[in-house]
Amino acid sequence: MAGCGEAQHSGIPVFHHSNSIVMFAMAIASDESPLVRELKSMPDLKLKLAEPLARYTSMKVGGPADYFIAVENGAVLAAVLQLLCRFDIAVSLLGNGSNVLVSDRGVRGAVIRLAGEFKKISWQDEGDFVRVQVGAAYAVTLLVREAARKGCAGLEFAEGIPGSVGGALVMNAGAYGSEFERVVEQVEAVSPTGAPIMFTRAQMTFSYRDSHLPAGTVATRVTLRLRKAEAAEVDSKLRALVGKRKSSQPSGFPNSGSMFRNPSGDYAGRLIEAAGLKGKRIGQAQIAARHANFIVNLGGAKAKDVRRLMALAQAEVKRQFGVELIAEVKLLGEWEE
Ligand SMILES: Cc1cc2nc3c(=O)[nH]c(=O)nc-3n(C[C@H](O)[C@H](O)[C@H](O)COP(=O)(O)OP(=O)(O)OC[C@H]3O[C@@H](n4cnc5c(N)ncnc54)[C@H](O)[C@@H]3O)c2cc1C
Repeated sequence: MAGCGEAQHSGIPVFHHSNSIVMFAMAIASDESPLVRELKSMPDLKLKLAEPLARYTSMKVGGPADYFIAVENGAVLAAVLQLLCRFDIAVSLLGNGSNVLVSDRGVRGAVIRLAGEFKKISWQDEGDFVRVQVGAAYAVTLLVREAARKGCAGLEFAEGIPGSVGGALVMNAGAYGSEFERVVEQVEAVSPTGAPIMFTRAQMTFSYRDSHLPAGTVATRVTLRLRKAEAAEVDSKLRALVGKRKSSQPSGFPNSGSMFRNPSGDYAGRLIEAAGLKGKRIGQAQIAARHANFIVNLGGAKAKDVRRLMALAQAEVKRQFGVELIAEVKLLGEWEE
């Protein structure tokens, strides 16, 4: 649609339209602005104004989204994107919020979350393989366990990743030597202007923690190809990885998993620990004592404190070892600098 453009805010792709600040102020000022009226008239959609986002993130920090929109199916998703485009409203996608840091000031514009139809899954037997069509809002942990129960191998690495399928695809989530890209066959998506798009595996480029989808693309459904195996074999691999994860990652406090990507040939956690920062605390945010690439929320932490700890880790690792740490976590919303 004409007039739509995209912008990059603090590392997270945000679909952005010109003069939007004025539009937000107008829309928020009145519960019955033309945009809000139109959104409220749409079926299969839940709208919340000035909705605090902390509860939708695993770190449990972050301010409000101007428009928080839960959409239940593909038709309404396309219609909402077209509408937001017409009103020149910036759009951000939120999955399970396990890889984002939302600013204390919150997010200007709309935050979209997929629900309803996007939580569907179907399994198809294909001889030695099983083809799984899974909605982007489906929980990865659920998918991994169902696959194991059905004797489908290939997803064991993802046990314990608390994301949605959409988030795991976009992030090319991985662990223990494997990544999402290994099982992806096809992706159904919607463009920032609401048009349906399909990506075959051959049309996609994956790299470490990135699927390189065009900015603003909303992944809606993913087709995976899993190998048939003995259920007991898959289950025992799963159990071994659960044990490994439990012994190496902090538990008990909210966090966003690894804050930084591992630099080539090294580990971000090892470097942060060697820089003497394990256990370092700013406000209620702390570099975890168990794993220095995790920052934990000790209770009531502010996003700005998490951000300061990230900046400190980056500065010290650069000063002491000459290594540039790149954030894995996506910063979402309005930040001071
Ligand atoms: C305790 C813990 C352990 C973790 N362990 C791992 C691990 O082992 N390996 C690993 O890779 N990660 C790990 N993570 C990080 C995180 O769980 C993964 O990156 C996960 O895939 C993110 O999914 P999500 O749904 O939470 O995405 P979100 O955090 O909600 O979003 C992440 C990014 O994806 C975008 N996005 C989400 N859904 C869509 C969609 N449908 N369409 C387009 N864009 C979308 C968002 O805009 C954002 O840019 C861990 C996190 C925690 C808290």
